[in-house]
Amino acid sequence: MNTATASFPALVLNADYRPLSYFPLSLWSWQDVVKAVFLDRVAIVSEYDRAVRSPSWEIKLPSVIALKSYIPMNRRPAFTRFNVFLRDRFGCQYCGAGYPPEELTFDHIVPRSRGGRTTWQNVVTACIDCNRDKGNRLGGECHMHPLVAPEIPTVRRLQENGRGFRPDFLHESWRDFLYWDSELDP
Ligand SMILES: [Zn+2]
Repeated sequence: MNTATASFPALVLNADYRPLSYFPLSLWSWQDVVKAVFLDRVAIVSEYDRAVRSPSWEIKLPSVIALKSYIPMNRRPAFTRFNVFLRDRFGCQYCGAGYPPEELTFDHIVPRSRGGRTTWQNVVTACIDCNRDKGNRLGGECHMHPLVAPEIPTVRRLQENGRGFRPDFLHESWRDFLYWDSELDP
């Protein structure tokens, strides 16, 4: 296989045809997709024009696949740095400005040096300047309070927040699954 096929990722849908995640978008490399197709774990929904072949088989590279087994999405989200940023929509919770992930950090509302724990409720997204300004002070000491009281987000909330971020690359076959996936009003 050559490098030209390296850029043919497939959008991965759950068994209900909704993307597994929006931001980052759920994408698999074509190698993983071909493996899953042969293991009969996914249904091919749409294809690229590009095919890969071996002496005994040929397959068009899938551009959209759907898992055959549904992955429940209502479990609690993992407490990760990325998910904290996603909950807070990549915006500093003190000055309100939005930043790319590499320019964000997280701030302990009650600083660790003063007994604060690293939990969903005590950690918020902050820009580097605000984080430095706040330092080891409590909100009441420096008049810096988070714009939104932090809580444990639902997976659904993270999905909704992620939907607002447009990925860098969108194959046309993905659009239906990304932009028509909103509940219709009765
Ligand atoms: Zn800030």
